[in-house]
Amino acid sequence: MSLGIRDKHQGAKAVYTTCRCNCGGNESCVLKAWVKDDKVIAVEPDDRYNRNVGREDSVMSEQDLIKNRLQRRPCVMGMAFHKYIYHPDRILYPLKRAPGTERGEGKFVRISWDEALDTIASEMNRARKEYGPYSILTPYINETADFLFSCWGAGVVGWGQCSYDAQRLMAHVVAGAKGFVMSEYYSGSAADMLANAKNIVLWGWDPTVAHQGPAHQFAWFVKLARERGKKVIVIDPRFSCAARTLADQWIPIKPGTDHSMYMAMAHVLFQEHLWDKEFVAKFVEPIGFEKWRSYVLGIEDGVKKDPEWAEVRCAVPAETIRELARLVGTERPSWLWSHWSVARKSDGEHMSGAFAALQAMLGYWGTPGAGPAFGTGPWRPIPIGSRGLMSGGEHEYKVPQLYRSHDWAEAVLLLDKVRSGELSGKEYMRTVGWKADPSILKDFNPKVLFWGGHAKPHATDHVSINCSSSNRQVEAMKKMEFIFTMHSIHNSTNLYADIILPARDWMWEEKGVTKSQYGGFESINYCPEVVPPPGETKAWAWVYIKIGQRLGIDTKKLFSYYSTDENWEKDWERCQKDMYQRAVVYYLKQGVTVPPWEEFIQGKFINCDEHEEKPHTGWDAQIKEGKPFRTESKKIEIYSNYIADENKRGKGEHYDWSGRLYDNLPADWGDMTPLPTYRAIPRGMDDELTRKYPLFLLTSHSRYRVHSLFWEHAWLRDHVYQHRVWINAADAKARGIKNNDMIMVFNEQGKVVMPAYVTRRMMPGTVLMHSGGKVIHDQSGIDFGASPSTLLGGETKSCKASARATSLVEIERYEGDVK
Ligand code: SF4
Repeated sequence: MSLGIRDKHQGAKAVYTTCRCNCGGNESCVLKAWVKDDKVIAVEPDDRYNRNVGREDSVMSEQDLIKNRLQRRPCVMGMAFHKYIYHPDRILYPLKRAPGTERGEGKFVRISWDEALDTIASEMNRARKEYGPYSILTPYINETADFLFSCWGAGVVGWGQCSYDAQRLMAHVVAGAKGFVMSEYYSGSAADMLANAKNIVLWGWDPTVAHQGPAHQFAWFVKLARERGKKVIVIDPRFSCAARTLADQWIPIKPGTDHSMYMAMAHVLFQEHLWDKEFVAKFVEPIGFEKWRSYVLGIEDGVKKDPEWAEVRCAVPAETIRELARLVGTERPSWLWSHWSVARKSDGEHMSGAFAALQAMLGYWGTPGAGPAFGTGPWRPIPIGSRGLMSGGEHEYKVPQLYRSHDWAEAVLLLDKVRSGELSGKEYMRTVGWKADPSILKDFNPKVLFWGGHAKPHATDHVSINCSSSNRQVEAMKKMEFIFTMHSIHNSTNLYADIILPARDWMWEEKGVTKSQYGGFESINYCPEVVPPPGETKAWAWVYIKIGQRLGIDTKKLFSYYSTDENWEKDWERCQKDMYQRAVVYYLKQGVTVPPWEEFIQGKFINCDEHEEKPHTGWDAQIKEGKPFRTESKKIEIYSNYIADENKRGKGEHYDWSGRLYDNLPADWGDMTPLPTYRAIPRGMDDELTRKYPLFLLTSHSRYRVHSLFWEHAWLRDHVYQHRVWINAADAKARGIKNNDMIMVFNEQGKVVMPAYVTRRMMPGTVLMHSGGKVIHDQSGIDFGASPSTLLGGETKSCKASARATSLVEIERYEGDVK
């Protein structure tokens, strides 16, 4: 007799934990997991506020909303995640490539932890001895590996991430705010928007799909704002879910041309005297502002950047641009948010710089209800520390950052051309986003690939998700003498590894203090190790320490809490407790008592918004308290004297006037100009290359994947999510393609095969593949998993700060076999 649902749940225990996916809701969402016999048998959403209330605003006061006294509800991925930890593809033991097999065949045999770690350490030592210190590389930015390498005295790392580095760079260039110190400049709280905005412009963002804060809560706040009569405008090349369900107006725009529209809006503000002269006089450096004014009005070059000029470029009618400029200039404050996607393409730096200039003209920097000048947030400086790991001070070896992280494969493959004299060192360094001292180039000799996860082991499959060609990455991996990876589940990158290490899932199987960011729903929560780790999986931090020990590094340097292997769990918990204690002390100084550790680990938490008087806005120190911006002029610098100085180009790392490193500025910034300017972007819709590849590829996130994570998840496939390329009906008809036809999408970077979704929701000339396809190559190199990364890469001219998540492609019917 089968058990009923009540019987199945008899004796189950509820445990609160935090979803730690690498999405914009990262560490925001709270799950109530039901655990029985050391297994998660069911999951419910957070219920620590407003239990059993469907629509929480029906019982919440205005203050409740502003203070975020609401559930941190997860999205469908969070709700399905527990099934993934029991997936058949879960990696449970250390593995090595089966003897006699080639990389990519995917045949592995089980080995012991000792053999795996000894092999990794000995290969690293061997490479260092035979090829020198610059022969071991970790492609993606990896702070933990960086620290390990700095203690060891060898190794190189990449720089930059794929999310919003253009904004990070420009926050430093324009406002003197270090790109990774988000608390300096981040605005963008949903509560601020709800309380203070007059109208809302979502530019390049669909909050019903991509998260800022817990799951779809930001979208819910937009909905609440709309119900209060605020106008919502969505600007997007596709008729997105947000355009359909949240917007009063949808403005389709040609992707990659957004900065022409910002400039045209600036033109209207100048012409109609709608700009905030007082703000500009007080906070903006005047010489640079005059250059911007001259550029926008066409005083020097004779080209007015007016709405008619912009219409030709961005395909938004001049009158629509004019009306939008008038709206945001008069119905103040307008909550104007140009999101990450806008700048995730060539010349993203110009898009970010032009938007910051527009926001300054509107006087919106730091204005409640006005949206962020850069990126997103907020991100309060509550000190919980860097998980207590790898934090042991200065070291003699400064790990060189030799390439833009997603261009690591180019850095490997193009070296041969440099050595043969086919490519100059200068050209090479510009192409790969070289950031270090050029003299290192002669000794750069990549042989060992240290993938190593970074801190989110389950969220990384670089071959499938990098903003560069997956084929080039595979080619580069084949040139390596040794590769190791660490992950919780098999993926496309692992196929090329010599050793695979099994990682614990850090949300379900590790203890950890978490602090959410983005969207203004900040809270500090605890992951309690909901279930015991399966097989021989290990914590990522333990793995780094064990490798470090074998390399001869003092363990205390790597992790000061370490005592013995037997005590690992206790040492780790002590570290977590101290991290939490820092937050306790921070709040005590403000006269606020937060739950003690013992209650915190049982599910009580800190709702950061509860303890603030008002929703967070950025730039308070400068705008409200009158402190100077940390630029040379002490003001907002729309024109960069640094970028204008050709003597600074190509020499290595760049430091601002006060000696602080520009984290996201390569040695050679390509053809980036000191003032944000407009041109038809490389690999954009007006590029020459459209003659060959006429369709502009967008790679937005899907509702059912965090990058490629959950590709295999039975609950998130098939009838739930179909991985298809979206194509406009006219473009499909011109190619004889019907809905659900199998098609090939291709360019010079690669080929993918997938079904077509023929729709009028895409602008003509644009197509969309959701990120999250997993690279599955056949013998000829066609990707049948249809990862967008297979089609990315190939642009070399512009500054390397912005990730290139778009490309140009052509599409045709596919008549071959489907693997
Ligand atoms: S939005 Fe979804 S995937 Fe992201 S943290 Fe929340 S539950 Fe996890």
